[in-house]
Amino acid sequence: MLTINEPARQLRIAARADVVVVGGGPAGFSAAIAAARNGASVCLVERYPYLGGLASGGMVLVLDDMCAGAEITVRGVCGELIDRMAARGHAVFPPQGERGHDPAMFRKWSRWGLFDFNTRTKPHPICYAVAFDPDGWKRASDDMVREARINLRLHSLFAASIVRDGRIEGVIVESKAGREAIMGSVVIDATGDLDVAASAGAAHSHGAYMVTTVFRLGGVDTDEAERFQFEEPAKHAVLDLEARRVIGGSWDYWWLKTPLPGIVWCNCPHMTGLDGMKVEDLTAAEFEGRDRIHRMVEHVRAKLPGFANCYVVDVAPQTGVRQTRMLEGEYVVSKEDVTGRVHFPDSIARGRDYYTPYRALLPRTVDQLLVAGRHYSATPQAQKISREIPPCMAMGEAAGAAAAMALAAGTTVRHVDVPALQRRLRAQGADPGDRPSAGARVAELAA
Ligand SMILES: Cc1cc2nc3c(=O)[nH]c(=O)nc-3n(C[C@H](O)[C@H](O)[C@H](O)COP(=O)(O)OP(=O)(O)OC[C@H]3O[C@@H](n4cnc5c(N)ncnc54)[C@H](O)[C@@H]3O)c2cc1C
Repeated sequence: MLTINEPARQLRIAARADVVVVGGGPAGFSAAIAAARNGASVCLVERYPYLGGLASGGMVLVLDDMCAGAEITVRGVCGELIDRMAARGHAVFPPQGERGHDPAMFRKWSRWGLFDFNTRTKPHPICYAVAFDPDGWKRASDDMVREARINLRLHSLFAASIVRDGRIEGVIVESKAGREAIMGSVVIDATGDLDVAASAGAAHSHGAYMVTTVFRLGGVDTDEAERFQFEEPAKHAVLDLEARRVIGGSWDYWWLKTPLPGIVWCNCPHMTGLDGMKVEDLTAAEFEGRDRIHRMVEHVRAKLPGFANCYVVDVAPQTGVRQTRMLEGEYVVSKEDVTGRVHFPDSIARGRDYYTPYRALLPRTVDQLLVAGRHYSATPQAQKISREIPPCMAMGEAAGAAAAMALAAGTTVRHVDVPALQRRLRAQGADPGDRPSAGARVAELAA
């Protein structure tokens, strides 16, 4: 391998904060809000010009994995963001009375993607899940960040961790202003790809899952498309399968309604064998994805009722990478933990019916560093089924509150008082999962 030496240089310190959060996606946004609301000064660093990560930039426009039957398991910052979006008509969800197994409600809500795909029963029950508008997310989160007086630095790409004597002291970022340092007493890695922890030397694994270039179509007659699906199911099954074959890789429900009339989002095409950490693979995904999208659009215009006048509104600016590096932290969550609903004494966040222990946010070696989001400490198999947006937000909220509480108590994030953290999260409206639900399997905390 050919290399060159980069000369050492002095860097300007652009900001200092009690808590530096890197990554303004669902997890990082929630971490920053929670840290600020618990009394810390916060600097939030994001490479793109907006907040939301895969939720807004990746145009992943359904929040799911946040209820177990009738019980809502993710609340807190996530719930507040939903309320704010809903108040402006930017979020849609089925009212309580319309959830469950009623086929009429399935017809009404399924094309929003608001059903529980983890159940075996078909059709899947309509559940508490939320369809939202990506710009609605950006606006509501801008408001919350501004109100919490967070020092938000957009257009800033994390480049390297600053570590001394095993403790992280800040990060180096690249921007139009050049290379600069941001110093913090605690750093939270919410990059989704574990950029900060990996750079700091934390142990991690490397996984991969399919990559998707999500896109939106406009000009869709959704009433006609739904009528065709439900009133001519046999014909629909044939034509829909053909469309899915053309795009090559999608879920059954490849198009879903959004709060904008006539605009649907398409969670496809899925592409495999790509590494979300490689520039070459990410570039190839964009080209391949766009080719497949336009092939499919031509096809559905000609063939699929409701789609005759459709057009591409946009392809998501953020490539749909689901899994790359994952922390190997103080505890590594396994698939059996998730599917077996294992409850941990140090649970600080929930997904649908599973629990996340605080130890899964803690690197084994680097001090004053926490991670939150899809790169949390889990096996690749566990991450695949526990990385939806709401549980990532719950993890972020817990990490932010933990950072602020550790600093206020004069201790480290490794030694934070977890029962106090659980109480604080619950008092602030989150569900840390400290109380196991019926059906949870209670685990002992190893000495
Ligand atoms: C195609 C697809 C479909 C999905 N479908 C659903 C769904 O229907 N419902 C659901 O709930 N979940 C879904 N998911 C999962 C969900 O979107 C993610 O797991 C979730 O967004 C993870 O949140 P996060 O904050 O951990 O990471 P991300 O959303 O990836 O956010 C990371 C943030 O960090 C920033 N960042 C990264 N590196 C740097 C750096 N070096 N410097 C500065 N900033 C950086 C990014 O720009 C981004 O803003 C889907 C994911 C994909 C890809």
